[in-house]
Amino acid sequence: MTTHKLLMLPGDGIGPEVMEQVRPLATLLGQAGVARFEVETGLVGGCAYDACGRAISDADMALAQAADAVLLGAVGGPRWDGVPYDVRPEAGLFRLRKELQLFANLRPAVCYPALADASSLKRELVDGLDLMLVRELTGGIYFGEPKEILDLGNGQRRGIDTQVYDTHEIERVGRVAFELARQRGNKVTSAEKRNVMKSGVLWNEVITALHRNEYPDVHLEHQLADSLGMQLVRAPKQFDVILTDNLFGDLLSDVAAMLTGSIGMLPSASLGAADAAGGGRRALYEPVHGSAPDIAGKALANPIAMINSFAMCLRTSFGLVDAAGLVEQAVANVLAAGLRTDDIRTPGTRTLSTGGMGRAIHDELARLLG
Ligand code: NAD
Repeated sequence: MTTHKLLMLPGDGIGPEVMEQVRPLATLLGQAGVARFEVETGLVGGCAYDACGRAISDADMALAQAADAVLLGAVGGPRWDGVPYDVRPEAGLFRLRKELQLFANLRPAVCYPALADASSLKRELVDGLDLMLVRELTGGIYFGEPKEILDLGNGQRRGIDTQVYDTHEIERVGRVAFELARQRGNKVTSAEKRNVMKSGVLWNEVITALHRNEYPDVHLEHQLADSLGMQLVRAPKQFDVILTDNLFGDLLSDVAAMLTGSIGMLPSASLGAADAAGGGRRALYEPVHGSAPDIAGKALANPIAMINSFAMCLRTSFGLVDAAGLVEQAVANVLAAGLRTDDIRTPGTRTLSTGGMGRAIHDELARLLG
């Protein structure tokens, strides 16, 4: 049995509460002979600042570098609003992203039939929805130089951000999208604004060439990013993998997220380069939601985003495709049985605490594992 090294960074607020629901699942998979997990834990965010005055210590950063995958809860909260900027809780997350060179952000939008009525769209548009948005994470307008506010000396100021992409940055995130498509519906929709942006022209040309040279078996289509936004809310089930840059991805992934109902359901993954030996890539998995200080400590948090992040980790980092599918099936079955946390409760369903939902998914997974 392969041993997988997993670093858990529960973080702040509801982070530890939802992370606590993952460990028993890892233990269960170990007992079932699926794989062995070597689990370490560390501190990130406000709790790390309280412990050592930094948002993540060098020692925990070294653990992250040594792990096969990192699982993160959430960081931040009003308690740390006044701490210096460079040691604020989010700085821990940014350090992880930067030093692990996580350039591709993956956000699935999956709509469980049992929750289709929680979406703001009609049931028939979202029931059975299963798309993956791949966003470039380390380049583009959020990082390009110059980035400044100039005083023009005439009572006017000028704000400047620079959208810049090099060929290799587009190619490496493109490969992630094409490879994912091969494991899913075999279709990539690439989005940019080639009609008004030079970086969009380059993006389009590079993805077209990459497709022709390395992934001709995958169906590729291009859409302008604004039009894709419309299509996402008009007919979201037409998409399989959506590939886009940092800025458009930031916007479109939030739109895609809302197709599925609650923020407490949404996992994500951030992937880095594959190692030279052709083995795994650096990867960090986390729920899309934050530390939810308003409900922290009240056992109200929905652990499904965290549990589904673990499922993504099983599939993407550890190659445990069947085990990942079973975890996701356990979640779907529990929802179909009418069990809910407070955020997704509807009339006629039964509301469980964070731990209650964790146990229900654990018990269902045990049943599925036989
Ligand atoms: P949030 O995602 O923490 O909460 C938004 C709303 O969604 C709240 O009403 C919250 O109760 C609810 N919610 C979130 N997760 C839930 C869950 N699992 N179950 C049930 N309800 C859930 O966003 P926010 O309130 O804007 O931010 C709170 C703190 O989290 C801030 O300090 C922010 O900086 C930080 N934050 C961290 C991350 C991260 O760690 N990646 C992401 C976003 C925000």
